[in-house]
Amino acid sequence: MLDDLSSRLSDRITDPGLLPGRGDFAGDGRLAVRDPATGDLVAQVAISDAPGARAAVDAAQAAFPAWSTMLPQHRAQILHHWHALIVAAKEDLARIMVAEQGKPIGEARGEIDYAASFVQFYAEEALRPNIEGVTSHLPDAEMELWREPVGVAALITPWNFPCAMITRKAAAALGAGCTVVIHPSAETPLSALALAVLARRAGFPDGVINTVIGDAATIVGEWTADTRVRALSFTGSTEVGRLLYRQSADTVKRLVMELGGHAPFIVFEDADLDRAVAEAIKAKFATSGQDCLGANRLYIHRPIYDEFCRRFTEATERLTLGRGMEDPDLGPLIHDRQIDKQKAHVEDAVARGARLLTGGSVDEAQGPLFFKPTVLADVTDDAAIMSQETFGPVAAISVFDDEDEVFARANATEYGLVAYVHSLDPRRIYRATRALQYGMVAVNRTKVTGAPIPFGGMKQSGIGREGARQGLEAFTEIKYVCRDWA
Ligand code: NAD
Repeated sequence: MLDDLSSRLSDRITDPGLLPGRGDFAGDGRLAVRDPATGDLVAQVAISDAPGARAAVDAAQAAFPAWSTMLPQHRAQILHHWHALIVAAKEDLARIMVAEQGKPIGEARGEIDYAASFVQFYAEEALRPNIEGVTSHLPDAEMELWREPVGVAALITPWNFPCAMITRKAAAALGAGCTVVIHPSAETPLSALALAVLARRAGFPDGVINTVIGDAATIVGEWTADTRVRALSFTGSTEVGRLLYRQSADTVKRLVMELGGHAPFIVFEDADLDRAVAEAIKAKFATSGQDCLGANRLYIHRPIYDEFCRRFTEATERLTLGRGMEDPDLGPLIHDRQIDKQKAHVEDAVARGARLLTGGSVDEAQGPLFFKPTVLADVTDDAAIMSQETFGPVAAISVFDDEDEVFARANATEYGLVAYVHSLDPRRIYRATRALQYGMVAVNRTKVTGAPIPFGGMKQSGIGREGARQGLEAFTEIKYVCRDWA
């Protein structure tokens, strides 16, 4: 870390080399990184400005010819090496994440496994054939489709999954043969910089991966305007996604947008209630509720409504809240805007007739960014929480009477990322799966993500998919080749 500036992190990790120096594109500015659990200064990071953002693209552009024409098995070897180094540094990376993001250490370790899995997946995917034959429709002609890397890709990531959102994009882009410029969230630059250190050790040539910290609008604005940046992959809020979509129009970039979510969690009367309650707790409170896959609306069938509310509230009251290194169920929220939003959503729902069953306020004994796990019942459809992403530990429960009603209410949103359904009736499950306008439908379980599946949303939850073979599409172009042998 910068010599003249404080770092409270170096004594918590075994490899101080993961705390980077000035970086290649840093100017004189400083970004303070604070522990959300305590407000303590963790470190200060040197930041870049517009010339730094352009220099990063210069470097990526210069590195592209050699990287994109390197034999795929050599690119795969470097990705495998990066994967091995991430796995070996798991504990350090998890501790860095706890220090700047606040999440419980168990969740942080899980995220490192998840992050590493994308690197391994795309190391293997890099070796799959990238040429496809086409049955000719012209006499004496031979046709092929070549899949080629687009060039420099800009990757913009949020703070809630500071490592996995980087590797989910970067491993696909790098495996495809692109070079990348990365802008992580200002809340979590240390995780991004640590991944960059490991990438350098893994043997990525200079200029292939360029991590730039700084004012988001300035840095990303440079990249959206730059014709050399051929693809932009963004994960974050729908609001910023719309802005970057507009900004990318003038240079006609290829886009991946992984945006907000507002997941419905539907429990039918025939569901396994114990399981539905346990899965609802995970779907609502994982990542302290700060998860795009978080269950924002719980729709419960009338015959089991009271029993579900009782059991869900009891389970919520058993959840622990604390500092990340104590490995509680929930940690602090990332900043005070998140706290303000929880309060506003609770007050608004209660004013419209909802009942507050537990929680509803800050846990002052823990600190100003700790919001108690909260349950609201009888929440009406006009409450803000039923249409706006809460991104925190507030569960909103509402009753329903029949299938058509609940499917219509579940779909009445601009979002379409993930929907959860609990039922043991196969025909009902089929009808629900057909009816729900969501990019992912999870039946009788919560955890559905992983490197081999195409993650992404419908409607304003995004464009394109990440993970799986589909995750390569935004980073590659199809070149159609037609050869005449007559
Ligand atoms: P955000 O939109 O505020 O920020 C995301 C990224 O965009 C950050 O790197 C930020 O620095 C940058 N950014 C912010 N303003 C910008 C601007 N004016 N110009 C250019 N870049 C800008 O989102 P966040 O608060 O970091 O993350 C939470 C959001 O991310 C939630 O809406 C959540 O649903 C979403 N999310 C989606 C997924 C998914 O896969 N669909 C995953 C995680 C988070």
